[in-house]
Amino acid sequence: IEWTTDKVRSTFVEFFEEKDHVMTPSSPCAPLNDPTLLFTNAGMNQFKPIFLGQVDPNSPLASLKRATNSQKCIRAGGKHNDLEDVGRDTYHHTFFEMLGTWSFGDYFKEEAIDMAWKLLTEVYKLDPERLYATYFEGDESVGEDVEAKEFWLKYLPADRVIGCNAADNFWEMGDTGPCGPCSEIHYDRIGGRDASALVNADDPDVIEIWNIVFIQYNRDEKGLAQLPQKHIDTGMGLERLVSILQNQSSNYDIDAFQPIFKKLEEFSKVGPYEGKLGEEDVTVKDTAYRAIADHIRTLSFAIADGAVPNNEGRGYVLRRVLRRATRYGQQILKAPPGFFQELIPTVVDVFGGAYPELVEKKDIIIEVIAEEEQAFSNMLDRGIKYFSELEDEVKADGGDVVTGDKAFYLYDTLGFPIDLTELMAEEAGLSVDVKGFANEMEAQKKRSREARAAAKSGGAPRLELIAEQTAALSDDGVLATDDSFKYK
Ligand code: ATP
Ligand code: MG
Ligand code: MG
Ligand code: MG
Repeated sequence: IEWTTDKVRSTFVEFFEEKDHVMTPSSPCAPLNDPTLLFTNAGMNQFKPIFLGQVDPNSPLASLKRATNSQKCIRAGGKHNDLEDVGRDTYHHTFFEMLGTWSFGDYFKEEAIDMAWKLLTEVYKLDPERLYATYFEGDESVGEDVEAKEFWLKYLPADRVIGCNAADNFWEMGDTGPCGPCSEIHYDRIGGRDASALVNADDPDVIEIWNIVFIQYNRDEKGLAQLPQKHIDTGMGLERLVSILQNQSSNYDIDAFQPIFKKLEEFSKVGPYEGKLGEEDVTVKDTAYRAIADHIRTLSFAIADGAVPNNEGRGYVLRRVLRRATRYGQQILKAPPGFFQELIPTVVDVFGGAYPELVEKKDIIIEVIAEEEQAFSNMLDRGIKYFSELEDEVKADGGDVVTGDKAFYLYDTLGFPIDLTELMAEEAGLSVDVKGFANEMEAQKKRSREARAAAKSGGAPRLELIAEQTAALSDDGVLATDDSFKYK
């Protein structure tokens, strides 16, 4: 393979280093210092203070004008959440690497576009005929980005320069924070046709590869405000670019995923990965393969960066991701309990060169995942059996809804996060009464508050016990908590 993942990554960084960008290593994918962020969702996160003009003038960051790196990103919660797509499509991961470049009050739109075009067409040698660019067409708060459009017309014919709305072309890191109009590069994997109507249309063969954001605003509670300086922030999905350079139609067919799939095949009792998608994947086998291969990366990298699966916030996202993978493996691939942690050494082998923290933390990663996996797999068979009886019951009654109390039983007694129950329901052609589930959850919290109060005022020992068991329940948000069996 000419363009291995490692080579694509280093070529990117070297190209920009030659253009005076400083290689600034990836920040942790589980950020420790930004309460507005669940996970690092883009390369720009670590530079937020620079964009906002909040850097100590004596810090080395204050003089940083240009930077580049490959950032470990997780999009499984918060403003950018791709969890529901992962496994079902070929180009969204919960963990992925984002190749990034930044200009801090230095060059702006034209240079950023020039450099991106040069790298893609002259270094990676992508066929210019297959490239499309989008720009922000404007809305009530910000006008049309005429400049970006003009700069793209230097390279592309007008029918391949496409105006898009804020959903696609006004980039925001979160509910608050630095933001601005953006211009994206899309690639047609098929070629020899006009694919402009397929851009931003969720077509697996016409995918967004690179986003060039013109950071000019900060959004806070009061709305958008101009920043003192104009910045460039770009991000390109490494796995997507590699899939193109390796002439594959899916991110999961690149070199970096092969060893993980091979290892997983050893555990599968329903055959190897075949790359089927959507309706074609009737037994959900290939979806399961993709999701598991994705999820083991997410868990490994997040734990290496100090996060752990638990009951709250970020930790609960990781717990949900792990339980989804465990369920996909044991129920769909018929893999034995404990299969998931067996994938970790392979992940460390493949990515340990670029990310030595994986090697350093390997034992901890294995320990944490093995324990979490075991705790859940002990309950999983019971849950699967309960669900399948439930499915039969619902269908026998001519219904198609899993009621809130049943979903709550799965959650409360069997450790099935609500999104996992929803996923299983969807596979079975059912839906879940999520509102009913939330009501059960609320009622449970109320009971536990009352029990705590009663216990404090010298209530019965049984109430005291319930109070203790449910103390982990926080008062905000259904999905932010999990009174899992393990802690009961
Ligand atoms: P998409 O529209 O495909 O969901 P996006 O517009 O949400 O992507 P950006 O926030 O612009 O993505 O991120 C920059 C780049 O990171 C994208 O152009 C894409 O190549 C890559 N990327 C984004 N999300 C993912 C993901 N979940 N998995 C893999 N790569 C991703
Ligand atoms: Mg997205
Ligand atoms: Mg997009
Ligand atoms: Mg984008």
